[in-house]
Amino acid sequence: MPGETAPDPYRVWLSEVMLQQTTVAAVTPRFERFIARWPTVEALAGARDEHVLSEWAGLGYYARARNLIACAREVAARGGFPDTEEQLRQLPGIGAYTAAAIAAIAFGRRALVMDTNVERVVARLHAIEAPIAESKPRLRELLDMMTPVERAGDFAQAMMDLGATICRPKSPDCPACPLNAGCSAFASGEPERFPAPKRKAVRPARYGVAHWIERSGSIWLVRRPAKGMLGGMAALPGPDWTDEPAPAETALVHVSHVFTHFHLELAVVASDSPTGEGWWQPLDRLVDAGLPTLYRRAADSVLEARSALAA
Ligand code: SF4
Repeated sequence: MPGETAPDPYRVWLSEVMLQQTTVAAVTPRFERFIARWPTVEALAGARDEHVLSEWAGLGYYARARNLIACAREVAARGGFPDTEEQLRQLPGIGAYTAAAIAAIAFGRRALVMDTNVERVVARLHAIEAPIAESKPRLRELLDMMTPVERAGDFAQAMMDLGATICRPKSPDCPACPLNAGCSAFASGEPERFPAPKRKAVRPARYGVAHWIERSGSIWLVRRPAKGMLGGMAALPGPDWTDEPAPAETALVHVSHVFTHFHLELAVVASDSPTGEGWWQPLDRLVDAGLPTLYRRAADSVLEARSALAA
C-alpha cells in the first residue's frame, strides 16, 4: 500500500510478471502459493524447472515462466535486484513496464509506470479520444509531466489503483475521484467515451489433435518441447498444430481455446499405443500433472462426457 515501507523487490517483480495479462483475482492465490513455496529469489533460483512450470500451470504465457526462472537465477547470482530501470531491463523477461514498476515501487525511483489502467486515467484527464495504441507516446509525455520526484512509488501505485477501482473502463466513479476537478473527460459529461476502444483483431484458427491413451485408470502424458507454444509443459500427445483442419476422425470431444494470436480447435481422439517419451498419470491425480489450461480443459471434457454417458 502507498506510504508503507518499500516492498520487497522480489514480491514486486513476481506479482508484476504474474499480472501481465492475467487478472488480479486469478493471480492472488497463485502468488501466495509461489511465495509460500519459494519465499526468496534465491529459493526460486534453486527450484527445479519442472516444479516452477507446474506451479505456473493455468496462468498461461509459459515463456514468462521460463523467463522467471532465468531471471531469478541471474538475480540470485548477482546478489539481489539492481535498483535502476536501466539495469533491471537487462534481466530476462523484464520489459520497460516491469522495470519501471520495480524501480518505482521497490526502490522509490522516479519512473513512468504506465499499465493499461494508468493509460486510461491519463487519456481521460486530457480527453484524448484516440485508441490507446495510437496515443501511447503522448500519454507517456503527459504522465511524465505529472510524475513527482518524491514518493514516485506511491504515486505509481495510487495511479494504478485509481484506474483499477475508480476510473474503471465502464462506469467510472467520477464523483469519488480525487482528480475530477482537473479532468477533461469528466467535464465533457461522457467520461466513458475516452479513450476509444481498439479495433478488434480477428484471430486466425489453428487445428490440433490430441491423443487420449488410457490404461488402468491412467492416461499417457508427454512433455512438450522446451521451445514454442506451451514449451516444457505437460500435455496430451499429438502431432504439431496446423493451419488446416485435420482429416475427420471420430473425436471424443472438441475443445476451442483462445491464445493471444490465434484460436485453436483441438480434437481429442482415443488411441491405443503410447507415443513419444512420457509417463502414465493416474486420472485421480491429474491435478498434480501441471497440465496447462488447454489440456486440463481437454481432459476434463473427456471425463465429463464419459460421466454424462454413464449417467
Ligand atoms: S474524474 Fe472520472 S474520468 Fe476523470 S480521472 Fe477521475 S474517474 Fe477518471
